[in-house]
Amino acid sequence: MIHSLVAGGGIGGLATALSLASAGHRVTVLERQDEFREIGAGIQIAPNGFAALDRLGVGKAVRERAVLVEELRLMDAITGERLTAVPVGDRYRRRFGNPYAVVHRADLHTPLLEACRLDDRIRLLAGAEVAGQAQDAEAADGRVSVTTADGRRFEGDLLVGADGIRSAVRARLLGDGPPQPNGHTIYRALLPIEEVPDHLRTGAVTLWAGPDYHVVHYIVAGGASLNLAAVLDDGAMEAVSGRPADRDTVLARFPRLAATPRALLELGRDWRRWVLCDRDPVDRWTEGRITLLGDAAHPMLQYAAQGACQALEDTVVLGALLAGATPADLPERLTRYEAARRERTARIQTVSRRVGAELYHPVGDAARARDDLLGPLTEDGLHDQLAWLHTAQPVPGEENG
Ligand SMILES: Cc1cc2nc3c(=O)[nH]c(=O)nc-3n(C[C@H](O)[C@H](O)[C@H](O)COP(=O)(O)OP(=O)(O)OC[C@H]3O[C@@H](n4cnc5c(N)ncnc54)[C@H](O)[C@@H]3O)c2cc1C
Repeated sequence: MIHSLVAGGGIGGLATALSLASAGHRVTVLERQDEFREIGAGIQIAPNGFAALDRLGVGKAVRERAVLVEELRLMDAITGERLTAVPVGDRYRRRFGNPYAVVHRADLHTPLLEACRLDDRIRLLAGAEVAGQAQDAEAADGRVSVTTADGRRFEGDLLVGADGIRSAVRARLLGDGPPQPNGHTIYRALLPIEEVPDHLRTGAVTLWAGPDYHVVHYIVAGGASLNLAAVLDDGAMEAVSGRPADRDTVLARFPRLAATPRALLELGRDWRRWVLCDRDPVDRWTEGRITLLGDAAHPMLQYAAQGACQALEDTVVLGALLAGATPADLPERLTRYEAARRERTARIQTVSRRVGAELYHPVGDAARARDDLLGPLTEDGLHDQLAWLHTAQPVPGEENG
């Protein structure tokens, strides 16, 4: 049995704890916030994310809280015309073996947290900000240690940095500076569903694409709220995370909108603003007995709606590769984990940028090229385009069965 230290108790950190515990190991999760919680708005989960949740034993609990989606709609933000729609109903669910669904972030985090609390091998420590790390990489049974901001010290056999896009573990491991703001500002609001007129409620994830901006909305929290986001390619380069934004400013920044997205934006209250960040893919995120996972390893723009799904996939692969591991095996097994995850996550980082530029925000000829490409695709053709992304990934050691 090994003892893992996990920095960060978000979606990736808690899922790591479950995966390593079910591989027979002991885990200590160190979370900076004074309690384990997820704030924020909605999140989309594709079938590959549900497949990972099933492996972690929480798929059922998340499905019970999720709102199933029937269609992913792409609309013209100015004319209001439908550009394309990907049906994600029965046929899609049969093909990919799982639904496409939306949840409030807490509806993903809470089942993971509850499952961790039920497992004796997992110790959850809140109010523990990882502020330093060291490892003995040379000795066959070398140890890692972390220190917290309030001076406590923890020892283990390995350290997983699941501390998000501004990972402190990554900063010390790779020293590659902060993530890059990508020049897009996102405004988000959550509307109580009773404030949304019937004709504006839909079982689809609907995205209104305009020149250099888009608006997206879907229903979350078991139907109780509508998640609304409006994104503008405004060149913003100062990293901002969740700062309150004024309603009139939001409305003024999206002047050219068809009636439906306009009406939804007008309903928005308590807006918050982010400036989106990501990183270029890297070849390495492991050194000795320290590795990274989720946004700490491969932060991506949210345009492919895969960041959390990829964190979940990481944890399943890590757990499978560490089954039966001894402390001496760790450096080699962690290198295999990184190798198994590198290519797929790098591709999604790159594609997420392209989805923003080529599908959601194109202008003029580029927008017409998008419409010409998407228009003729059949339902199966659309599903073929998504198959590489939404198909459940093989688990190491089970590829042939
Ligand atoms: C606007 C937006 C929309 C998105 N939509 C989707 C979507 O639809 N589908 C999808 O799959 N993904 C989506 N994502 C991406 C998804 O939110 C992230 O990929 C996911 O949260 C990554 O999980 P994580 O555990 O790696 O990091 P995080 O969720 O950031 O968790 C990191 C945790 O580490 C803690 N922490 C930080 N520093 C320290 C420290 N030094 N010591 C201890 N703890 C620390 C934090 O408090 C936090 O709890 C979206 C992202 C954004 C910004």
